[in-house]
Amino acid sequence: MWPKAGSFVTEQPRRILLGLGIDLMPTQIESAKAGVITPEMEQVAEGEHLSPELVRQEVARGRMVIPANRIHLQKGLRPIGIGLVCRTKINANLGKSALQSSVEEELEKVRCAIALGADTVMDLSTGKDLPSLRQLIIDSVQVPVGTVPIYEVAENLGDIAEMTPQYFLDVVERQAAQGVDYMTIHCALLREHLPLVERRTTGIVSRGGALIARWMAVHKAENPLYTHFDEICEIFRAYDVTWSLGDGLRPGSLADATDAAQLAELRVMGELTRRARQLGCQVMVEGPGHIPLDQIELNVKLQQLWCDEAPFYVLGPVVTDVAAGYDHIASAIGAALAAWYGASLLCYVTPREHLGLPTLEDVRAGVVAFKIAAHAADVARGRPGAQDWDNRMSRARFRFDWEEQFRLAIDPQTARRMWQEVARPGTTTSAQYCSMCGPKFCPMRISHTIQEGSSVDEPLATSADTAAPTTPASCPLQAGR
Ligand code: SF4
Repeated sequence: MWPKAGSFVTEQPRRILLGLGIDLMPTQIESAKAGVITPEMEQVAEGEHLSPELVRQEVARGRMVIPANRIHLQKGLRPIGIGLVCRTKINANLGKSALQSSVEEELEKVRCAIALGADTVMDLSTGKDLPSLRQLIIDSVQVPVGTVPIYEVAENLGDIAEMTPQYFLDVVERQAAQGVDYMTIHCALLREHLPLVERRTTGIVSRGGALIARWMAVHKAENPLYTHFDEICEIFRAYDVTWSLGDGLRPGSLADATDAAQLAELRVMGELTRRARQLGCQVMVEGPGHIPLDQIELNVKLQQLWCDEAPFYVLGPVVTDVAAGYDHIASAIGAALAAWYGASLLCYVTPREHLGLPTLEDVRAGVVAFKIAAHAADVARGRPGAQDWDNRMSRARFRFDWEEQFRLAIDPQTARRMWQEVARPGTTTSAQYCSMCGPKFCPMRISHTIQEGSSVDEPLATSADTAAPTTPASCPLQAGR
């Protein structure tokens, strides 16, 4: 259990870092601006099929971030790049709530999400003993880990109104010292924005946004996370924690999409993006939320314009409010479009969004839906190697190579299970049709007979008989397994 407000000393973690001899190192963006290509930039370049110099340039201009806390790097973090020239990344939110789930259940969800291809995970736990679960996650995963520090502050204090700026800074520093790679902090929601929320259908739907709004209302004072922004940057700079500027006023319904409150906060995010970069920090900007399809392009373009092309980290967006139980689909539609227009990191949504804490199966469904969205955008944007994966699958389909199809599927286990469930007894993976059309009406089989001049009743001599197994080198999911 953490001490109560005011009993922390921020110097302790700084001394820990100094003891490791890593306090004085430049951050990724500082190195990039100085013309230095770091080992992390080289690893990103290799994974993205980009030149190290291009990665350096993108990091220097702030259009790419490499969320890599120095502490987590020492524990085996594999750096990734998030930005316009990179493959679209997805994040899975995990963490127990005060009412449900256990540490072991959440760790199982983390493992499942990463095995299915989540590029980052956020620990959004609330309830007791948050630091130990966070440390377990950081120590056991090689992907960047994000948090929202105000959850821990609120958990520790009886009322968020008890928070002092110093207490918040202490929590941020303790989390940084644990190895958190990026943090969402709602510092762009200002007191002057609060009247703009009154006309909304769904008010404030961000947990962090609501907490900080309450603090401002009680104290009749400006957002302390805004007024102490430079001090947070100082901590982030020391550990090279990446900013995720939180959108406390994201719309929680289509009726509130792209409204004055959301845009006012986005303007401040642009100001803070520039300030954080000046202070040697990497920055991502969080985005909505609930947005109808026709407003997604506008939202991405405004963010890119006002925030100097900082990587856009969108939460969905959900494109209709009526898909309860299927919000992973409603949001994956929005996510694909957002990524197509330029969003770089997609925060998944599970089928249980708006209804409860996701189960393991919900996590699985959410990650898969968002891997599809991200990949669809990568293909459309012509990212290096993206469509190779699809082309391999199509060739495997046409030669009825079922094993290869299962292996290349975004969720191999489900693909194999579905094929098996409806195959006739005795059907093997050498079958040159499936139960959908059957051998007589299988158009791909008929295509082969046209090409080869054989009868539909004869077994086909397809390229599968001679083809060597292929390695999907460009398949990011397979590479992660
Ligand atoms: S039977 Fe129909 S669905 Fe099955 S492989 Fe042939 S074309 Fe595809």
